[in-house]
Amino acid sequence: MTSTARPLLNRRLAEFGTTIFAEMSALALSTGSINLGQGFPDTDGPEEVREAAVRALRDGRGNQYPPGPGIPELRTAIAAHQERRYGLSYDPDTEVLVTAGATEAIAAALLALVEPGDEVVALEPYYDSYAACIAMAGGTRVPVTLRPHEGSFRLDLDELRAAVTDRTRLLLINTPHNPTGTVLTREELTVIAELAVERDLLVVTDEVYEHLVFDEAEHVPLATFPGMRERTVTIGSAGKTFSFTGWKVGWISSAPGLVAAVRSAKQFLTYVASGPFQYAVAEALRLPDSYFADFRADMLAKRDLLAGGLERAGFKVFRPAGTYFITTDIRPLGESDGFTFCRALPERCGVVAIPNAVFYDHREQGAPFVRFAFCKRDDVLHEAAGRLRRLASAGS
Ligand code: PMP
Ligand code: GLN
Repeated sequence: MTSTARPLLNRRLAEFGTTIFAEMSALALSTGSINLGQGFPDTDGPEEVREAAVRALRDGRGNQYPPGPGIPELRTAIAAHQERRYGLSYDPDTEVLVTAGATEAIAAALLALVEPGDEVVALEPYYDSYAACIAMAGGTRVPVTLRPHEGSFRLDLDELRAAVTDRTRLLLINTPHNPTGTVLTREELTVIAELAVERDLLVVTDEVYEHLVFDEAEHVPLATFPGMRERTVTIGSAGKTFSFTGWKVGWISSAPGLVAAVRSAKQFLTYVASGPFQYAVAEALRLPDSYFADFRADMLAKRDLLAGGLERAGFKVFRPAGTYFITTDIRPLGESDGFTFCRALPERCGVVAIPNAVFYDHREQGAPFVRFAFCKRDDVLHEAAGRLRRLASAGS
């Protein structure tokens, strides 16, 4: 123990306590509630991918430090995936880097690319690690708020333009967007890309939910827009795409200079991770299109199952165009504070959810919104919907 009165946690991190996901998952466990908080599937990904991990482990592939940038098989598979899906061609040796989940990719990118004092413009609500990593890098976050508009949360492009100053170094974009489920349109992305080029900004784009887009929504990587490939770091994750969140295999694809910069930071974070899993994910990325189509169709059905349940329980539902989260407005239930609501929810009906306010600098703007994850078995979602119905009867 130190004898001074100085707090142990440094100033950069002082505002970040335990993540809301850990807090709410612990609450689910201690109350025996259905956990629709933290976003992880309750069914593992494809059996053949699991088997590929077992084989790698048994054959002694990846049990010792894999190469710093990731095993060549995986880097090649990532490049092939970007080419096949989006027509983006990357050199697996110089333009792809494997990371310990998207979380490390985000951290390494921000630590590598942001100087203390640089401004980072990020969409608000933002995924919680963005704020912490901008802070660790000594940057200043400048949130641009997505606001409810006709059933979804939309970006105000004029506000985005106005947020960029001479100190802005980087735009941190997330599409499909956690927690709102918004998928940025081609038109919106065009404006973001033009802004980045005009103001000579770097762009880090978190596209971990790239395969989870529904209805007419389409995922278009920012790197495909004119002038963007050379300034954009694109982030993907096997956790989301193949339902193995515990494996922590993520990646970036970008231009060689940016990949080298991010690698410099990454090598001092984990150096490497997930050896045998890298072999399995290399195989997963080569699954036929039917895997991705089935995954999406399955999640779409789950979205509609939970959205219906939430509507019947009295929530206003923002039906997401992407991700596996539904943001709701609790005001029709006579509630206004998501924190209070989420802390009481296990007791009231045995369900855990996430208060969106934690993803805001402007907490009051997020206060009435609550996020539910639908990446769960159908029977679990049915049970949750039934339990949530108690809110409707309690209110009437
Ligand atoms: N970005 C977003 C938007 C996420 O929702 C998550 C986690 N669900 C991550 C990054 C982290 O991904 P990983 O588990 O691969 O570190
Ligand atoms: N990304 C997941 C979510 O939004 C949580 C991951 C984590 O707990 N860090 O729920």
